[in-house]
Amino acid sequence: MTKAELRKQIRLLKQQYTVEELKKMSQHAIQRMEAHPSFISAQTVLLYHALSDEVDTTHLIQQYADKKTILLPTVVGDELELHIFDAESETKTGVFGIIESEGQLFTDYSQIDLAIIPGMAFDKEGNRLGRGKGYYDRLLPQLHCPKIGLCFSFQYFDSIPHEKHDTPMDEIITT
Ligand code: ADP
Ligand code: MG
Repeated sequence: MTKAELRKQIRLLKQQYTVEELKKMSQHAIQRMEAHPSFISAQTVLLYHALSDEVDTTHLIQQYADKKTILLPTVVGDELELHIFDAESETKTGVFGIIESEGQLFTDYSQIDLAIIPGMAFDKEGNRLGRGKGYYDRLLPQLHCPKIGLCFSFQYFDSIPHEKHDTPMDEIITT
């Protein structure tokens, strides 16, 4: 199966669930994430603001904004910038409809303790399929912290197509 075919299959699988069902399913994965030793010990965490077909991270963002340094990606051209999200941060809707933080730009990637990464599919080896634009493929090689993929169980496979430029995750947490 090609990456494009797999993305199509995931879109079909996702349609079997309502937005409410996906939000409910997200809670399991979020509880697991919250209890994970790497999350508990991390001071600076890269998170993401979920689109409707991604595990809903709202709880983590809201609950930990004043306890950890939470970073959210902002799409700028072909790259992802990281911005701090805290109680004072304004948000805006970015180019792909993703909510982005207008908090301070964060550039010291060596300070990031944990990266929590969305994807359309992951596999048992940690391989990740994104939406096809390679944004995380360009960001991930710059991060030297543990990378944990978050996904629904219908996005988790034994094996998915991957290429040299795809950075594998260290672990996948699923619903
Ligand atoms: P995704 O990771 O979003 O599923 P792909 O892995 O298919 O998408 O990659 C999408 C595009 O991004 C590819 O055309 C690939 O060549 C490009 N790309 C991936 N990594 C890099 C990189 N480090 N620098 C420049 N382009 C890249
Ligand atoms: Mg990729």
